[in-house]
Amino acid sequence: MKYTFVTLFSNLIEGYFSDSILKRARQKNILEIEYLNPRDFSTNKHFKVDDTAVGGGAGMVMNPQPLFDALNHLKNEDEDVHIVFLTPVAKPFRQNDAKRLSKKKHIAFVSGRYEGIDERVVEKYADELFSIGDYILTGGELASLVLCDAISRNIDGVLGNSDSLSVESFETPLLEAPSFSKPQCYDNICVSSEYLKGNHSKIRSLKLAMSECKTKFFRPEQLLKHKVRKSYEK
Ligand code: SAM
Repeated sequence: MKYTFVTLFSNLIEGYFSDSILKRARQKNILEIEYLNPRDFSTNKHFKVDDTAVGGGAGMVMNPQPLFDALNHLKNEDEDVHIVFLTPVAKPFRQNDAKRLSKKKHIAFVSGRYEGIDERVVEKYADELFSIGDYILTGGELASLVLCDAISRNIDGVLGNSDSLSVESFETPLLEAPSFSKPQCYDNICVSSEYLKGNHSKIRSLKLAMSECKTKFFRPEQLLKHKVRKSYEK
């Protein structure tokens, strides 16, 4: 998978690939990272990339010209690149999107700054738009890293043990059961001894009960989905 980050601030992104799982994936050439700075494409003599909004209003807006040229360049290099814009107004990014996008070969993430990007750029180049939640960040870089991280875990060879993917939360309506590490008792709090007896069917039903409990507490609407699904299976 190749990721192109279209950003004015590539340093904000590079650090995330300098450690842990994504660093290893990059070293193994499973991930290729490229940066495209709209400022490098600005035809303004001071390499300006933003201006005040047409019609007034607070703050600066990213100009169309540098982004049109940067994205044209990108598409000339690879016409199949999938271009994703990060914006707080779009649909929220979900695990299903992460899995679907992990099948692409090349994704570009376009990060806005200031009051955002001239809408004509979005209209012309966006294949998809995503928000990471109902709050406003200063820029799209963190949001693009969130997508990139969630997508990458679904690419073969990125995780040490890909079995962990199939039991995680959001694979089914139920959230994953709580996890416990060793020792069995710590600070006078003990994990069920059922875990130590090696009866796998008992452990499975214990985990299912805990999953249901956790889902009821954190995401009751998901538990409802689980129950409806189960009733159809009967
Ligand atoms: N004026 C815009 C509005 O009210 O919708 C917000 C602009 S925000 C300060 C600057 C940039 O940060 C956006 O263009 C977008 O790329 C990114 N951004 C901010 N919040 C985001 C979110 N929740 N999800 C995805 N991207 C976000």
